[in-house]
Amino acid sequence: MSALINHTARVHAVLSASAADRWMHCPPSARLAEQYPQTSSSYAAEGTRAHEIAEQCLRAFKDGQPEPIYEGDDLRIRGELQAYIDGIIETYNAELAIHPDTTLILESKVDFSQYVPDGFGTADVIIMAGSRMYVIDLKFGQGVEVNAQGNPQLRLYGLGAYHLYEDLYDITHIMLEIRQPRKDHYSCDFMTVEDLIQWGNEVVKPTADIAYEGKGEFACGDWCRFCPIKNCKHRAAVNQKLIEDHPDPAALNKKELGVILQQLGQVKSWMDTLTSYATDQILSGEQIPGWKLVEGRSIRKYVDEDKVVNKLRAEDYADAIIFEKKLLGITAMEKALGKKVFNELIGDLVVKPAGAPTLAPESDKRKEYNWQQRLIDEMEIEEE
Ligand code: SF4
Repeated sequence: MSALINHTARVHAVLSASAADRWMHCPPSARLAEQYPQTSSSYAAEGTRAHEIAEQCLRAFKDGQPEPIYEGDDLRIRGELQAYIDGIIETYNAELAIHPDTTLILESKVDFSQYVPDGFGTADVIIMAGSRMYVIDLKFGQGVEVNAQGNPQLRLYGLGAYHLYEDLYDITHIMLEIRQPRKDHYSCDFMTVEDLIQWGNEVVKPTADIAYEGKGEFACGDWCRFCPIKNCKHRAAVNQKLIEDHPDPAALNKKELGVILQQLGQVKSWMDTLTSYATDQILSGEQIPGWKLVEGRSIRKYVDEDKVVNKLRAEDYADAIIFEKKLLGITAMEKALGKKVFNELIGDLVVKPAGAPTLAPESDKRKEYNWQQRLIDEMEIEEE
């Protein structure tokens, strides 16, 4: 079996592909970010483990070997990767049926330094099929949906993968895919090699050179959420101006309201960043004039649940009094029964009611809330 990648030890370049959306929009953030510590979270550690397990399972498939046996949390992660692993095998087999020389390549180190100084990364899965190359990125997060269309990280991996294999394969088209199994989300972008290289030369390279030198203009946007410069003065200035500029609330017309609503997300995200940054600063011994940490709201809890049960049973309290019997929630039940049995036995007893109306920008992909239909539905239910 080939050596597995040490996913935890993946090194980050100054202009990393994962941060490309940020440094391409805000070039000076790249060098400034070097002065800030790289933080990691339990979510990142779980994502790293998921990549390791996915690689092990796909490598076992490729080598015709049994998968490793997983236990505990790894078993849960393996279960949550099922759709991803099945999907990769399905794509590979479908291409193999058409192109007998289809090749599955796992965890390939790709070099895109001809566009981005010191640029390299790791492509989770590459499938070579005829003149088509798939570059597939696993996202294990279950928060934000990540889309492949125009995704610079994926495109950079695509460029690196293309140059790695261009001498061996006659590649004309590249399928860039993001597969996010825990969100049941799949997204792809299909490009010709010419278009991808043109993007690399005309869009990425000039910006990357500026960013590498620490030059360029600061720019705020969605990408600030993942920027390590939590106390960025530019972001503060932009958001303070947004707050100062808005007109007297009493006189807001609908157009002004629409504009302010668009800005709210940005201001709120900045405020959340500042709050968590200030909390971390005080926790690490720094002082912020006028601010301190206090204990937040907490709820009572048993010190030892077994002792509580033993003590109450000793006093002849019946289990029916001290325990509550509850049906498992849908997710837990699906996990307990397995998806197939769950669907067979009780799938028709599960409904997904319409969600509460939620304000969203016009660009949001979800279909518009139909309040007239909702009223009619509610009236019909009442009549029944
Ligand atoms: S917070 Fe935003 S504006 Fe400030 S450096 Fe980071 S990406 Fe640029």
